[in-house]
Amino acid sequence: MGLIVQKYGGTSLGTVDRIKNVAKKVAAAKAKGDDIVVVVSAMSGETDRLLKLARQVSDYPDDREVDMLLSTGERVTIALLAMALNDAGLKAKSFTGRQVGIITDSAHTKARIEKITAERIYEALKDGIIPVVAGFQGIDDRSDVTTLGRGGSDTTAVALAAALKAEACIIYTDVDGIYTTDPNVCSSARKLEKVSYEEMLEFASLGAKVLQTRSVEFAMKYNVPVLVCSSFNNKSGTWVTREDPSMEQVVVSGIAYDKNQSKITMTGVPDRPGIASKIFGEIAAANIVVDMIIQNVSQEGLTDISFTVPRGDLKEAALIVSKISKEIGAGDLQIKEDIAKVSMVGVGMRSHSGVAAKMFQTLASEGINIMMISTSEIKISCVIDAKYTELAVRSLHEAFQLGKDPVSKP
Ligand code: ADP
Ligand code: ASP
Ligand code: MG
Repeated sequence: MGLIVQKYGGTSLGTVDRIKNVAKKVAAAKAKGDDIVVVVSAMSGETDRLLKLARQVSDYPDDREVDMLLSTGERVTIALLAMALNDAGLKAKSFTGRQVGIITDSAHTKARIEKITAERIYEALKDGIIPVVAGFQGIDDRSDVTTLGRGGSDTTAVALAAALKAEACIIYTDVDGIYTTDPNVCSSARKLEKVSYEEMLEFASLGAKVLQTRSVEFAMKYNVPVLVCSSFNNKSGTWVTREDPSMEQVVVSGIAYDKNQSKITMTGVPDRPGIASKIFGEIAAANIVVDMIIQNVSQEGLTDISFTVPRGDLKEAALIVSKISKEIGAGDLQIKEDIAKVSMVGVGMRSHSGVAAKMFQTLASEGINIMMISTSEIKISCVIDAKYTELAVRSLHEAFQLGKDPVSKP
């Protein structure tokens, strides 16, 4: 008899019937003899609804208060699911992040888990009770409620699986596994049987929201096998595990996109030592993650600097940058809110050339302009206008023939 952590996402808990359906799935797993710990998200749309409320009340809602508000979404689902499980004849109890000792740093709205004590979980399991834990939330060392960033219930689940030394963490969602690209955007996307932690980390950090990036980091660090599958059918799903020789050694393994980015361009920036450090130092101090940065060749001692930030951080980043612009005597700020980053990922890129050229050519043939480019050993990303995201993903998927069974790398 082992211990399994199951996590159910928002769509899987979106209605009363779906909550009852989840209770059936938990009951079936329990009947097999395993100990089960369940982690849940808020009902689909609820976190967005709460965020919208906050923005109606305030242009710059305080992050501590945002966390207090958002944490209520998962309180609803833990209680409802525990009730449904009790009704199904099982012993179950709901727990908030605080009650199971999920301790985080104090970076409100994007906190990182530092420690999990899990005493109440051990106690419940000893008494044959199924703990139903609120995902996405924790408390900091002053007992203030924190949240882990959008999609953070995945991280709660994998971190708990690591802390409890569970056999596996099963992520139940609304697609039946990890695909070569988002199956809701590209109908020819192909389901992968297994994905390595490394590749999943790239996919996730480049925008494939099926798993939150931090959850993959936890899985990799503590070697937690993660199965991603659907809560709506019994199809086999995708295992995210350590790389093994049978894994596909293809040049390009998939495409990710991130529509949640914005671009800021500072014009007429004095080209002298210390300026970049000042700009990006202050942005980092505000806990904002800058992704791509491009600095143009300087002309007459002035240059332009463009960079991307998560869309949710745009307002704050723009405030910081306009203050710095004034201080250093730079020109106007240009802001483009609706950009997207489309990325091709594959470990085989290390030893194969030509992927970038083919990517640029494919986008050009669709008339899609590339605003920024960045590359690493195993990925190429292009920033484009957000309205072309789906077109770009589909045409790249087609051009690289990702829907077909892969030909192995020589
Ligand atoms: P949940 O509410 O269960 O956490 P999410 O909406 O956060 O679900 O994540 C699941 C979604 O991730 C899918 O509906 C799909 O649109 C998207 N997705 C993006 N890239 C991929 C991919 N490569 N494979 C599978 N799903 C993907
Ligand atoms: N409810 C949170 C969100 O919508 C956390 C999650 O779903 O994982 O981001
Ligand atoms: Mg999610």
